Amino acid sequence: MSMNLIALLYLVASVCFIQALKGLSHPTTSIRGNLFGMVGMTIAVLTTVGLIHQQAADLNVSFSEGLGYVLGALVVGGGAGAIMAKRVEMTKMPELVAFMHSMIGLAAVFIAVAVVAEPYAFQIVPKPADGSLPAIPVGNLLELSLGAAIGAITFSGSVIAFGKLSGKYKFRLFQGAPVVFQGQHMLNLVLGLALVALIGTFMATQRMDLFLALIVLSFILGVLIIIPIGGADMPVVVSMLNSYSGWAAAGIGFSLNNSMLIIAGSLVGSSGAILSYIMCKAMNRSFFNVILGGFGGDAAAATAGGAQQQRNVKSGSADDAAFILGNAESVIIVPGYGLAVARAQHAVKELAAKLTEKGVSVKYAIHPVAGRMPGHMNVLLAEAEVPYDQVHEMEDINAEFGQADVAIILGANDVVNPAAHVKGSPIYGMPILEAYKAKTVIVNKRSMASGYAGLDNELFYMDKTMMVFGDAKKVVEDMVKAVE
Ligand code: NDP
Repeated sequence: MSMNLIALLYLVASVCFIQALKGLSHPTTSIRGNLFGMVGMTIAVLTTVGLIHQQAADLNVSFSEGLGYVLGALVVGGGAGAIMAKRVEMTKMPELVAFMHSMIGLAAVFIAVAVVAEPYAFQIVPKPADGSLPAIPVGNLLELSLGAAIGAITFSGSVIAFGKLSGKYKFRLFQGAPVVFQGQHMLNLVLGLALVALIGTFMATQRMDLFLALIVLSFILGVLIIIPIGGADMPVVVSMLNSYSGWAAAGIGFSLNNSMLIIAGSLVGSSGAILSYIMCKAMNRSFFNVILGGFGGDAAAATAGGAQQQRNVKSGSADDAAFILGNAESVIIVPGYGLAVARAQHAVKELAAKLTEKGVSVKYAIHPVAGRMPGHMNVLLAEAEVPYDQVHEMEDINAEFGQADVAIILGANDVVNPAAHVKGSPIYGMPILEAYKAKTVIVNKRSMASGYAGLDNELFYMDKTMMVFGDAKKVVEDMVKAVE
């Protein structure tokens, strides 16, 4: 395969990736977007095999020997990825994404170490005849250092994010509550400066021990950056690590002079950064605080808020809720993480259809961080084929809660928690769906347990609120039966 053909095919793959991102920006075009992504990746992988063939010829080494490793890696990596993606439940997607980010980060680290150890194998410099280690150009050393450092931060940060998102490990660093200690920011700053100094010294000396030291330091920084982030701020972490993983790949792409890695890495890096920015806006957080890893909630406040007191709430049955819904003129449904856990989206659609048949106006209100991944609720409702025109984003629907007869909250908690208006609360400043403004509020969840941020929710104790306890699917199915 000639280098011109390789460049052309990489360009085609890049256009496919851009089309994929474009398609994924809306549920109606997302399937097409995914198809573009798959086609682009297939072209990219096959072209890379062609590139290896070409490089083997240039270096006068056997291609068939190397091909075994490439195919082996493709079968093992591709097979494991396909099985994991097929098996994963929708509610576990963020953990899978964090795991994948960690793998991208680790891959960047491994490639960088290999390049520093044997730069001639990657055609960065010619192989010296005396077998000595050749000097790598300073520009490449910088790219390699940055790629390895960002990759290592992405790896260890994603491992911590994985633990926090799964919520099932006892290890303190894997728990949702932020880990904060005195002098944390100063420590991060000192380690950050030490990392810069190490990169500078490595570039001047090209010593492998310094390169490994900068990687270890980056692993530590990755942990320190993510541990103070807790509860409701995790969506930003997911998109931020996504962005980091892209930049790590792009950095390595520069060293390897591989346009595909540069373009794909930059696409992931910049789209992840844009998503982080959107998430920050949705959570009312500062983008720079996020990047610097210091925006976690106040741990003390989180603990205090999380402490549950015994207080009375008004509760009713699914039949009671159905009666209220059937007599309303306008109903706003607020889906949350619990709806996804219960897989109750089809039942909700049926409930909405029955109410609409009775002449009730039904709308869905979507909070940007509801569920456990960006766009989670949109995907869930799209799966049940809920009409898009009934689905409204927070900024479009918030003004309507005041006029709504009923707001029915299904498995949502943090995204409707008025604590966001209370100074000192860990979620203070986060915009919420203003369900508390509706004339009547119905809340379905299984218990009085807190949401992801670990906070009690005043909405549940309001006079106009009726709690309907139980699994969302069972409760909504009972409501469907009871609506006359
Ligand atoms: P929450 O996690 O705040 O609350 C979900 C509620 O659902 C819980 O209170 C739980 O109460 C209830 N629930 C769980 N299972 C069921 C079930 N089977 N049937 C009925 N109810 C159930 O969800 P929200 O969607 O309101 O908020 C999302 C939170 O996740 C935010 O804090 C957000 O920041 C965070 N997050 C979001 C990410 C994203 O990208 N969207 C990524 C990472 C975190 P009970 O146990 O009593 O039933």
